[in-house]
Formats: sequence, structure tokens, C-alpha cells
Amino acid sequence: MTERFIRRTKIVATLGPATEGALRMEELLSSGVNVFRLNFSHGEHEEHARRIRDARAAEQAVGRPLAIFADLQGPKLRLGDLPGGEVEVRMTTELLLKAGESSDDPKIVPVPHPELVGALQLGDKLLIDDGKMILHVVGHRGDDPICKPVAPGKLKSRKGIAAPNRPIPIPALTDKDIADAKFALEQGVDYLALSFVQRASDIALVRETFPGTPVIAKIEKPAALEELDAIVDLADAIMVARGDLGVELSPEQVPIAQRRIIRTARSAGKPVIVATHMLESMIESPVPTRAEANDVATAVYQGADAVMLSAESAVGRHPTAAVAIMDRIITAIESDRDDDASDYRRRETPTNSTAVACARAAAKLADELDCPLVVFTRSGASAQRVSTIRPRRRIHALTPNLDTARRLALVWGIMPDIEPREPQSFDDILDSVMKHEASGGMDRFVITAGYPYASDNSTDTIKVVERKA
Ligand code: PGA
Ligand code: MN
Repeated sequence: MTERFIRRTKIVATLGPATEGALRMEELLSSGVNVFRLNFSHGEHEEHARRIRDARAAEQAVGRPLAIFADLQGPKLRLGDLPGGEVEVRMTTELLLKAGESSDDPKIVPVPHPELVGALQLGDKLLIDDGKMILHVVGHRGDDPICKPVAPGKLKSRKGIAAPNRPIPIPALTDKDIADAKFALEQGVDYLALSFVQRASDIALVRETFPGTPVIAKIEKPAALEELDAIVDLADAIMVARGDLGVELSPEQVPIAQRRIIRTARSAGKPVIVATHMLESMIESPVPTRAEANDVATAVYQGADAVMLSAESAVGRHPTAAVAIMDRIITAIESDRDDDASDYRRRETPTNSTAVACARAAAKLADELDCPLVVFTRSGASAQRVSTIRPRRRIHALTPNLDTARRLALVWGIMPDIEPREPQSFDDILDSVMKHEASGGMDRFVITAGYPYASDNSTDTIKVVERKA
């Protein structure tokens, strides 16, 4: 592959029973995966610990920094136990929702979340089992909501229940989430992903509970869309979690939400992942549908930082093929120059920040010369600032910090690399660049760094370097 076509949109793959063992993970990384996701809605800690160990072994083997994130289950609400495990609901049935673990009366639906039962109001819609059953609140008896179905069907014990338009006053981190997050951080994951974010204060809570840990906010509730700007502002990265979002919104609203979330995240300079059902048919089939190829392409055209595989890689029959196909689609779309990602550069708002202005200027200079960019970065912030401009060529981020290198694996266009030596002079910076670019086959680069090399907010230097033949 020539340097010119090194893929810039990143691939996230969820690990699971279909992708066990360091060797298989190495194969996934070699096929193009940049980030592994661990789904804490399933599996024991021991299993996750083993996967993290294997993933790090695979990372070593391919010699490229790998980001791993722990996706916390979050406050997913469920029904309690119904009499006999399920209850037949007719059009005329009136059901009473009551706070509690179980019920013996088929007309009483137990919900082990008093906060949900207490928050419901007349006219609210309830989605049960991913929307397979829909109820409306038609009144109250005492404090308990009375509900009627939209269509006849069955209610089953322990199925998910959501009130899409009603914010529920429950904490964003359950006891399970806190235990899972502590465990995952001990095992060295690079990000925590928070599910069912409802408000910006949910992100603030994770920040307080786990200071210094980068947080991915999963946008999968309409309530989160109401506070999108504030959530994006507080989070380190965003996920368009279309699985649950598509349950709580109607299907035609999902593309609108996706486009808006990507734009909001990109204007704030935060990485954004498009997730769920991207190559869904490949759980069984060795090839994707044309519509799925189009879906991946759309995310790339919209300038998402990463696209994600869920069940396709966790439990599917063709995990490596799914990665390879994603890689091919992304590469094809990225080489179509006429894309929204680069178009975006023309809509920059003026800045007062030297660091931001240098990042933009460096990216534009690299585009003008059609050459790669090298960024010296400690926290990763300088590299991320350059990435938001979406230059055409790759961004080589050199950092002394392994955590930074791993985190940057998620970010659009960035090839992270460790440079342990702290430069003492600009000549040291040049030496490091030459060493790292030795095998790249390029003879011109744009370098940007803060000099003296102190903090990431000191980026003030841009240099074009030509390698003498
Ligand atoms: P999940 O999140 O796979 O953890 O449910 C992603 C989504 O809802 O799309
Ligand atoms: Mn979800």
C-alpha cells in the first residue's frame, strides 16, 4: 500500500467469543482494527481480563499502539418478573405499572425502578423489549400509571423498558458499572464508554468518580440529543449508538441524529464513532449488503473518526472478513477526494488560540504540499487539533507517553508512535522525525511542535523539512 492511501478513518471491533485469543486478535489488527471494545453488558471479569491480556499481546506483535475501551452497561431499565414469565396483552387490556420485583397478577406489571414509575406522566410512551411492545400512559391510579397497548402482544419477564421522552432521575453509573469500571481501569483500558447518557451531569459524575479517565459518551437516548452541546463539551469522545437510539427514536430520525451528532462532535474537536448494524448481515454472510457498504461510506463521507463492528466481530461468523471489507470501503471513499470531510475545512471559525491557528496552518500547509504531517505531542491534544482539520495525508503523532499513543489510535488520521527521547532542541526534533520517517519513503514533511517542548498548549512552530537524497 502506498503512503498516500493509508486509511485515516479508524476501525473499532468489539471482542467476544468469535475473536478469542492473541492470534486471532493479531489477525484483526493486521486486517485494519485500530481499537478494541469490551462490552461489559456481557461476560465475567475473568473473561475481560483474559481478552485485555491477549489484546496487549497482539498489540506488541503488530507493533502499533492499540486503544481498548470498556463499554459499561449503564442504567438499562428492565421489567420485573411476570406471572408465568409472560403475559398476553389484548387491545382492551389495562395494565397497572407498579414499583417492585415481581407480580402474581397479570394486570400488574412490576418494574424494579421506582424512579421510572414515579416519573411517568399522562401520554408518555413506553417501549418494551426494543419496541416490540409499546404502551401509553392513559392515567394514574394513586401513584401508579395505568397503561394501554398500541397493539396486542406479549410482555415477558426481564425485558428492557424505556420511556424515550421522559428523563428518569436515576444515576448514570450503576453499582455494576462502578465495579466494572474500576476493574477495567486496573487492567489498563484507555477509555470508559458510558451507556444511556441522559444529561451532561452524567459525564460530570464519571469524571468525578474516575478522575483523569477519558470518557466516551454514548448517544442513544433522545434526552441526550436535547443536551448534545453540553455533553459533547464534557466528554472526550462521542459514540452514535444507533442500536438503542433506533429503538427510542423512529427509524427516519436516526440518520438526522447521526449527521447532527457527527457535526457537533467535529466542531468541538471531539472524536466521534459511528456504531451498530454497520455490517450486520456479515454476522452470517461472508459479504455485506450494498446498503451496508453505503452505510459505512456515509459515515466516512460525514467525517466520522471511526466506524464500529459489534456483533459482527464479537459473535459473527466472519470477523476478519468484516474488518477487511470495512477497510476496503473506507479506503475507497477516502480516495474519492470530493468528500465532505475535506469540505469542512472551509468553514472554520476564527480563533484566538496560537495552538489552534498553528494546527490549522500546519494542516493546510501539508495539504498544499501534499505531504504528511508530523506532530510532537505529550497529552495528544496537539495531534487531535490537527486531526480536526482533516488534512488529506496521514498525521504522524510522536509522543513519549504510551497512554497518549494508545488513545490517539481512535482519532481520525493519526498514526501514533512512541518517541521516548525528550527533545532538547529543534535539531533533536528533526533527528526524531528522520528516524521515525526513515521507512516511510517520503522526502518531505510538515512538522509542528511546541518549542521549547513543554506543554501541548505551546504549539507555536511549523517547519517544512526536505530529506536530502
Ligand atoms: P450497545 O450500544 O451495543 O452497548 O447497546 C450500542 C448501541 O446501542 O448502538
Ligand atoms: Mn446501546
